[in-house]
Amino acid sequence: MNPWREIADRVFVRRFAFFDQTIGAVVGRERVLVIDTRSTLVQARELLDDLRHVGRLPHGVLNTHAHFDHVLGNAAFRPCEIWGEDGCARFMRDHGLDRRARVAAQMPEIAADLLASPLDPPDHTFVGEATLDLGDRRVDLRFLGRGHTDHDVVALVPGAGVLFAGDLVEEGAPPSFGDAFPLDWPGTLGHLLDAAGEGQVVPGHGEIVDRDFVAGQLGEIAFLAEMARRLWPDLRAAGHDPAGPAPEYLVTDAARHLGWSAGPVREALGRGIAQAAGRLGVPPVP
Ligand SMILES: [Zn+2]
Repeated sequence: MNPWREIADRVFVRRFAFFDQTIGAVVGRERVLVIDTRSTLVQARELLDDLRHVGRLPHGVLNTHAHFDHVLGNAAFRPCEIWGEDGCARFMRDHGLDRRARVAAQMPEIAADLLASPLDPPDHTFVGEATLDLGDRRVDLRFLGRGHTDHDVVALVPGAGVLFAGDLVEEGAPPSFGDAFPLDWPGTLGHLLDAAGEGQVVPGHGEIVDRDFVAGQLGEIAFLAEMARRLWPDLRAAGHDPAGPAPEYLVTDAARHLGWSAGPVREALGRGIAQAAGRLGVPPVP
């Protein structure tokens, strides 16, 4: 059975149960752009096997960002070109081994596969934007600002009305804030809405969404960002350490307001307060 869904002319999505991940494939006359490579070489080989259903052309890969579930399958796709923002390759080089070890410790069921999946960062990197030529069509890659990470890239398929959002948009669960820049994320989603127009938006996890969904998620993230920004002066006056966890009473209030579990709210407010205090986004001291 063909596991892919064609959501526009030769634009395919494939959902996987693991992490409810959504992978994209854009087919041109000369090659197929594959959007993200999954969490391990084993998972990537399953994806490669599935890709026979969309065609037998050579592949190109885009990593939307450097989180393990989007990049650790990269090596299975070589020797093809792997594209990503400069920051994606840098994050993999600086933090990839630590992250892989941390995830392996948290997920013993795939630990061996994770540790057998080499770090293979994008070799075609860019800053800001790039265009990929697939033969008879192109895909525009754009960095729209910091959000889920400091290097998220979206892929726009002109004429097809599809935007691949990576984890800047998440369906089926709250967005993930572990490496996020919460104060910037709403503005970045505003740019994403401008770029998407009335088209379909493919999240990194979950079902395809529309602009109303993205606008709703923008509002939720903006609520948390605004809370962090507004409360930071009082927290500072009260001696709160911005590098420490967010006060739990704020987490409880915000989680109730949003209808989210406490975990993502705790992470969002922790990083939001740190950012409001000027403690995020500062280059590490050499
Ligand atoms: Zn992510």
